[in-house]
Amino acid sequence: MNCPICSNDKFEQSIVIKQRLIDEWELNPEEVDYINKQQGLYCTKCLSNLRSMTLAHSILQYFSLKGNFQQINYSILGREKKILEINEAGNLHSILNQFENYSFAEYPEIDIQKLPYKNETYDILVHSDTLEHIKDSKQALKECFRVLKNDGVLFYTIPIITNRLTKRRDGLSKSFHGSQNEEQGDDYLVWTEYGANFWVEIIDAGFTEITLYTLGDTSSLSISAKKVVNKNYLPITFLSNRFQLKRIRKYIRKKIK
Ligand SMILES: [Zn+2]
Repeated sequence: MNCPICSNDKFEQSIVIKQRLIDEWELNPEEVDYINKQQGLYCTKCLSNLRSMTLAHSILQYFSLKGNFQQINYSILGREKKILEINEAGNLHSILNQFENYSFAEYPEIDIQKLPYKNETYDILVHSDTLEHIKDSKQALKECFRVLKNDGVLFYTIPIITNRLTKRRDGLSKSFHGSQNEEQGDDYLVWTEYGANFWVEIIDAGFTEITLYTLGDTSSLSISAKKVVNKNYLPITFLSNRFQLKRIRKYIRKKIK
């Protein structure tokens, strides 16, 4: 494998996950290896971890771009697309911020659950390992959907334990990423431990095309979620509204008569 960010072919692995988080997350040895690989395997040249590399790979693949990520600010992507990065997306940050139509939204000044941007402003949104720290992650995804233009796309990563279902940590003991202890404050507090049904909230937020990218195994996934405004799709709010359901039934009864 070559690093999608700098093309280097040498990697090293560091151990990042601590026993406290292993206990809180109730990880088995295989899952510990998986998280260590996702967060701790890094390129010896550009120092990007596997998570950043997978995210870069997904953007390159989606736009069928040749070359590595460090070269794409010279592409149409870097010159023409309006891009919003929400929190620093690992090692991609120093490359993305060279793009001509780039904006940066950083916590706590900007809350992803309430983005201060007009509808349909951006072509591309990027965030990385952010959603698990957001209290209302579905609302955050809805906001991403809102500020994207039609045919715009969100690229992001979240840590996913694939052989279990998503679990909320409301009411459980506080669990932290980053240095994995409480001294760093609540910014690294985990609200959601993502599992195999992570995709449900993406569809609930309005996205209708989801693609997963890997660099060969499930230790790291990057998600692309495309905004497609198509009148043939079911209007979700319409269906979930009891009052509207009554109206639909009435309408159908009338039609049958
Ligand atoms: Zn690299």
